[in-house]
Amino acid sequence: MYEIKICHLYPDLLNLYGDTGNIISLRMRSVWRGIGVSVLEAGIGSFFDPCGYDIVFIGGGQDLDQAALQNDLLKNKKSAIFEAVESNRIFLCICGGFQLMGKYYKTGEGRTIDCLGIMDHWTEAGKNRFTGNYSFECDFLKKGSFDGRVAGFENHSGRTFLSGNAKPLGRIIRGSGNNGEDGYEGAIYRNVYCSYSHGSLLPKNPAFADHLLALALTNKYPDFEGLEPLDDTLENIARLKAL
Ligand code: GLN
Repeated sequence: MYEIKICHLYPDLLNLYGDTGNIISLRMRSVWRGIGVSVLEAGIGSFFDPCGYDIVFIGGGQDLDQAALQNDLLKNKKSAIFEAVESNRIFLCICGGFQLMGKYYKTGEGRTIDCLGIMDHWTEAGKNRFTGNYSFECDFLKKGSFDGRVAGFENHSGRTFLSGNAKPLGRIIRGSGNNGEDGYEGAIYRNVYCSYSHGSLLPKNPAFADHLLALALTNKYPDFEGLEPLDDTLENIARLKAL
C-alpha cells in the first residue's frame, strides 16, 4: 500500500483562513484512494526531519506570528528545510509561508523579518491589504481538458517580488496576487509551490491537490503509475462558481 507522510510546520502559528483545509484535502484525497496518510506536526522546538516527510505544508500567519517563529526557523530548521527542498520533497507554502521561503519580509511597522532565503523572492508590506476571492491560471495544471484556472482567496499586506530561482506559479486573472503590479501569483522552485491563496486552495481546486499527491508518490515509489480519478462533481461546481 502506498503511504504519504505530511508535515504541518508550525500548525499553531501558521494556520490562517482555513489553511488546515489544504491538509484535509490532501489527506482525504489519499484516503479515498486507499493511500495511507499520516500528518505530523513540527512546531517551535521540535525536530524537523529533512528525510521524514513526502509533503511539507506551511500556512499563513499574522506578522506577529511570523516574527515569533523566526528564531526557531532560522536556528533550528533552516538547514533541514534546505536539504528537504534540494532533495525534491514537495512543499506547499501559503501566504506567510510563501514569504518565509524568500529572503525577507519587511512589515508595515518597518520591522524586517529575515526569512529562509531558499528562494530569491522578497516581500515588503504595502499600505493596504489585498483581500478577497481571486483567480489565476497555472500552466502546470493544464492537463487533458483542464484549463488550469484556479479559484483562490487572498488576504495579505505583503507585496512579493520574484527574482532568481523563484519563478511564477501562475498569472492573475482577477485579483492582486503577489504585488498587484506584475500580474504574477505565487512562486515555484523545484517542488516548492508557493501561493497567496489560503485554505480553500486545494479543496476548491482538486487538480492542484492531485498534482502534489502525484508528485509525492512519483518521488517515493518507482512503480507508481498515476492516481485513480475521483468524482469531483461538487468540487468543480464550487470552483466554477467561485471563478
Ligand atoms: N502577515 C503577512 C501579510 O500580511 C502574511 C499574511 C497571511 O499569511 N495571510 O502579508
